[in-house]
Amino acid sequence: MTRYIFVTGGVVSSLGKGIISASIGKLLQARGYSITIQKFDPYINIDPGTLNPYEHGECYVTVDGMETDLDLGHYERFTGIRTTHANSVTTGKIYKAVIEKERHGDYLGKTIQVVPHITDEIKRRIMHNDTVDFVISEIGGTIGDIESAPFLEAIRQLKWELGNRAVCVHLTYVPYLKAADELKTKPTQHSVKEMQGAGIQPDVLVLRTEKHLSDSIRQKVASFCNVDLECVVQSEDLNSIYEVPVNMQRQGLDAALLRKFGIPVGETPMMEDWNRFLELQRTATKEVHVGLVGKYDLQDAYKSIRESLILAGIYNHVKVKIDFFNSENITKENVPEKLSQVAGVIICPGFGQRGIEGKIIAAEYARTNNLPAFGICLGMQMMVIEFARNILGYNDANSSEMDSNTPHNVIDMMEEQKTVTNMGGTMRLGAYSCDISPNSRVSDIYGTLHISERHRHRYEFNNRYKEEYEKNGMMCVGTNPESGLVEIVEIPSHRWFIGTQFHPEYSSNVLHPHPLFMDFVKNVIA
Ligand code: GLN
Repeated sequence: MTRYIFVTGGVVSSLGKGIISASIGKLLQARGYSITIQKFDPYINIDPGTLNPYEHGECYVTVDGMETDLDLGHYERFTGIRTTHANSVTTGKIYKAVIEKERHGDYLGKTIQVVPHITDEIKRRIMHNDTVDFVISEIGGTIGDIESAPFLEAIRQLKWELGNRAVCVHLTYVPYLKAADELKTKPTQHSVKEMQGAGIQPDVLVLRTEKHLSDSIRQKVASFCNVDLECVVQSEDLNSIYEVPVNMQRQGLDAALLRKFGIPVGETPMMEDWNRFLELQRTATKEVHVGLVGKYDLQDAYKSIRESLILAGIYNHVKVKIDFFNSENITKENVPEKLSQVAGVIICPGFGQRGIEGKIIAAEYARTNNLPAFGICLGMQMMVIEFARNILGYNDANSSEMDSNTPHNVIDMMEEQKTVTNMGGTMRLGAYSCDISPNSRVSDIYGTLHISERHRHRYEFNNRYKEEYEKNGMMCVGTNPESGLVEIVEIPSHRWFIGTQFHPEYSSNVLHPHPLFMDFVKNVIA
């Protein structure tokens, strides 16, 4: 029998609903339950693929090629589950499905309305997976937003229909007013009232706070909000997001949830592997600086890359400090001063012309100074262009994305992309297999010759130049077996110079850090 947990947020955004949802998933898994976590985003875009990273942070990609919210990255990193298109739903998708059904004549004679048609479609998607013990549905946005209303109505109906098979966890914020030296619970009370106004009584409250909350504050929230005291937990700022599950477990969040569902609680699981990881994290204090060369100066824009580096650092017993370098400001003159501060560099993914010359200069600096360098997607393409310009002697080498008339299009658009006119969801997306050349560095790193990794791009290494590259020392060591497309390049004579057309950062998780990031960090500190 599948049970449903809804995670909503009030007062302000950025409370970390994704982390709490992922932590709940982790704690239930530790008790032997199967779970899935899905994100419902109230915006009208079909997916965040067309959203500017400044607006929405990183676009995460699932194995089956769905461009999704970055919270799915947290779900995968915390729980090791593989998300799919079904784990990411937007208002745009809901409306599209309903309108398509209407055009198809499925509702013949009926007036199509938010209630019941939109809410039914939301409910259908919440209930879609009945093969797991728990479905955790995180509702994006903040309670009270106009956009959230249909989602709240769907939750209200489900809570009514499912009885104790549905539980609502509501996150709020308890601000500390410095002048008064007081923690204030009023915003939480208002937020719960807003939920009650929509007909939903939250079962569990998670209070985000920068200062520890006393039992009397929790007691006050419990009695003003009609929530059991054991169901009011606090989520204080911690040194690392990966401490959140054990912090929640210590306060009995998982036990409280099980009691709400009427499930016997049993013993608290030890979570040995997770705690072993946390111990490694606590003891990895030696700092190592890695440069991130990209154009979005925003923490969330390269979320999975940052987390993959941090995780690989912990397993290599170091604390990776990430220094961001805006590629638009990198010049031939200042690159030595900038990159001499770091022990390795990641050349980031991206789209469009802005900032690419800085990435090319960074790649050249890393190549000529034996600085470990990892190019991801556009980053790999820039490594390839730099090599063509400075080693193969094609000064005008470029990607046809940046210069459609370049005579040396070492990166070129795939044939099947040339007729595509729609921007949304039309790239080479999701997992593709890749064969690795024996005797390459990456074959040692992966320990296998057959891998599968996730993609998100339109342009490719141009195979017409393959031989020339290999003759001159940049080897194409990973290839797609069906299409022959080049997926990995490396320079064997360099300390560590690898570029991947795919995104390994999407499949690195807490208990299984990605081998490429592991080996990169290992060589950065060597
Ligand atoms: N803009 C490049 C392409 O479409 C790279 C995309 C990326 O870095 N994700 O091929």
